[in-house]
Amino acid sequence: MKILFLSLFICITSLLFAQPKIEFNAQKSNNGITLFATNQEYCPVSVKMKLNINNLVSDKGNEFIIVVPAKTSNYFLVDLKKDNPLNSYSYAYDVASTFGDVTLTNYDTNLAYNLPYQKNEEYKVQQGYFGKYTHQNDRALDFEMPIGTMVSAARSGIIITQIEHNTKHCANSSCLGYNNYIEILHSDGTIANYSHLKYKSCKFKLGDFVKAGDVIAESGETGYTSGPHLHFLVYLPSFDHKKTIATLFKINDGKEFSLLEEKQFYLRNY
Ligand SMILES: [Zn+2]
Repeated sequence: MKILFLSLFICITSLLFAQPKIEFNAQKSNNGITLFATNQEYCPVSVKMKLNINNLVSDKGNEFIIVVPAKTSNYFLVDLKKDNPLNSYSYAYDVASTFGDVTLTNYDTNLAYNLPYQKNEEYKVQQGYFGKYTHQNDRALDFEMPIGTMVSAARSGIIITQIEHNTKHCANSSCLGYNNYIEILHSDGTIANYSHLKYKSCKFKLGDFVKAGDVIAESGETGYTSGPHLHFLVYLPSFDHKKTIATLFKINDGKEFSLLEEKQFYLRNY
């Protein structure tokens, strides 16, 4: 029973991810209103907008999705033109937003990722894709490693989220909000998540470009977890549950590529 308990790593869910910093504004025109968005993030932000309009006609329908480029001010969203110019009008909208481009469907499927730790180190995948403890719905990997292990980028990209102020952990949902994590946007639009990182251990700044193999943080056990480990996954942006994807890794001397399997040890000797 004890072994079973120790191996039961509980991880975060997508519910926890930070919300993008995006603002909306409206400008009046002679014949209606135009809506714009300002995206302060280092990655594109997808916006799903639902309009509730009165005596206005939208050029995009009443429900639409727009991808607002990174670091862009006053990006055009929609024109709302008066239907009957003599009458008054009103408008309201609901928005959902998420990091990345939700329209993405093609991504690099043959690229081999680096194991997310330093050369000459070897760790065990404690829980693998669709693992029965907490990965039932995800292609996620839990690398069992002591607190303070150097975590390196599995693939090059831009750091788009970095949370490192948390200190707490526990094995129940009351600790969901205490996860320290980094997210990296790759050149194909996929995003990697590195979770349960050690307090104040991040080595780069938000918006920095990191190369595969760069040490980005130290592993820890923050958040909803029952033991020290690195939780790693790659996903396609989505408004709903993240669409996690399978990724090949370079193993041993780096010339072999493999999907990683639960309970196996993987050496990074490259
Ligand atoms: Zn996990």
